[in-house]
Amino acid sequence: MIKLSKKYAESETGAVRKGWKGRTRIALVYPNQYRVGMSNLGFQTVYLLLNNIEHIVCERTFLPDNGKNEGSRIVTIETQRPVTDFDIIAFSVSFESDFLNILSFLNMAGLPILAKDRRPGHPLIVAGGVACFLNPEPAALFIDCFLLGEAEVLLPTFCESFDRLILRSNEGKKNFLLDIAKNLPGVYVPEFYRPLYNNDETLKLFEPLCEAPVKVQRVYLHDLSNVSTCSAVLTPHTSFKKTFLIETGRGCTHGCRFCSAGYIYRPPRYRTVSELKKCIQKGLALTDRIGFVGAAVSDLPEIGALCSEFKNDNIRISFSSLRADAVTEEFLSILRQSRVKTATIAPDAGSQRMRDVINKGITEEDILKTAERLVTKGIPNLKLYFMTGLPYETFEDIEEIVKLCKKIKDVFLKSSRIRRRIGRITLSINPFVPKPFTPFQWAAMDEERIIKQKINIIKEGLKKTANLRINVESPRRAYIQAMISRGDRRMAEILLRVVENRGNWPKTLKESRFNPDFFVSRERYINELFPWDFIDHGIKKSFLRHEYYQAGKEKVSPPCKVGSCSLCGVCPAK
Ligand code: SF4
Repeated sequence: MIKLSKKYAESETGAVRKGWKGRTRIALVYPNQYRVGMSNLGFQTVYLLLNNIEHIVCERTFLPDNGKNEGSRIVTIETQRPVTDFDIIAFSVSFESDFLNILSFLNMAGLPILAKDRRPGHPLIVAGGVACFLNPEPAALFIDCFLLGEAEVLLPTFCESFDRLILRSNEGKKNFLLDIAKNLPGVYVPEFYRPLYNNDETLKLFEPLCEAPVKVQRVYLHDLSNVSTCSAVLTPHTSFKKTFLIETGRGCTHGCRFCSAGYIYRPPRYRTVSELKKCIQKGLALTDRIGFVGAAVSDLPEIGALCSEFKNDNIRISFSSLRADAVTEEFLSILRQSRVKTATIAPDAGSQRMRDVINKGITEEDILKTAERLVTKGIPNLKLYFMTGLPYETFEDIEEIVKLCKKIKDVFLKSSRIRRRIGRITLSINPFVPKPFTPFQWAAMDEERIIKQKINIIKEGLKKTANLRINVESPRRAYIQAMISRGDRRMAEILLRVVENRGNWPKTLKESRFNPDFFVSRERYINELFPWDFIDHGIKKSFLRHEYYQAGKEKVSPPCKVGSCSLCGVCPAK
């Protein structure tokens, strides 16, 4: 691993190297490979925030590229020091499936996986990131404390309270954890909570112990205007080769009922054009590639004007997401200037009925017009995102996906012919996975055999359509993601067993004393207590429940109007 870390270190621009003397040492871990971790702007942001604190030295580390460490120690990129030399090992977790990688990482680092088995002198194990503030419970028994919310607010106070001496005794560590659990908003220490279950295995009570708060408040940055979130380290070894990533805003106004980012980053906040210009200038000093990142980049006020300002043949600008109802002429010109080869549209559902059920807020006309304009403007290829297995979905709705794709293909073909260049359409089909803190948190996930039937209808229906390729996310992987996503603390037993079984999920689920379908394909009782309910995102559960009912009635809801609304409970009533 040392050789690999050195190779990565040598090809980087922007890594921070700080002396260790008198500083708290934090090993920041992305529980996956280097390539995946370094493509994650959240991870890079935490790295920069920690190293901006004078008394902190933060170094990065990842899982070995081949998933095995062959007996060598897990070391950091900056100094190749073993992670066991650090005071804190901090995991940045974006995807719930990476919870399993935390166990593999601790195992490879030679540290006890269970928090209760760690002894004085072992590093403090901390975790944060979106997967944690959605539902940390599947990983609760492995982590000493979670930081729930946005790093800009959480990290300075946490680092201020931490003293390396606490690690010398169990008592010192326990007192520190209790102190921050009681006094620092956003800090969740699992050992100070006890879940109790009903006979039917649902959660009866989630009991705080030792004066720990009943609810843990998600903390967030109220004003983004003077804080930039952009790439810290550039490297050729990521999905965004040498691209300087810039976050344009947080949250989204649209409230699609399946999308957790649309709820747990409320209220929607945007950066000012002047702040973004500064970031772009900073990026252009390092590279000619700028990538705008956000849940709804196209919603940023004045984004078109901002892009036009950098209209120059030498700059390539890309966008993480474009809504089919928000593609302006300025966008199209920038995409063309940036020689973008493939544009992505996410209809998510084939019928207008289902787009209303999920509250998508776009029409078939929006989708067809955008496809035509993109190709007419010279972007040869299209990528289309659809989901199957959504709540209230019928087989007719699946047929509608086939029909819509054929209509898009016709528009695509007509516009391509004018350009005398036929590109390709790629369909990405993803099984719907119900997520915490969304209106669909009550919904059952479709059975695997039904999902497969639906996928076959799409494949069958489009098999004669030329230049159209279909990529399907594995229903089995989606099932496991769903189990972890809405699992409770008992998930720990399953995750431990998977590590013992070297990642063999079928064997593990067969051996498990829990029926995984209980977590996946069971519709929740409308008043059920959820394992994640102890996290206070400011959103009223009654609001989410009401949105779930609206979905069943195929009713759409208005987008967020920050400043004049307090519907979901996040914004204060006027
Ligand atoms: S209170 Fe209204 S404006 Fe504020 S986040 Fe909720 S829905 Fe959006």
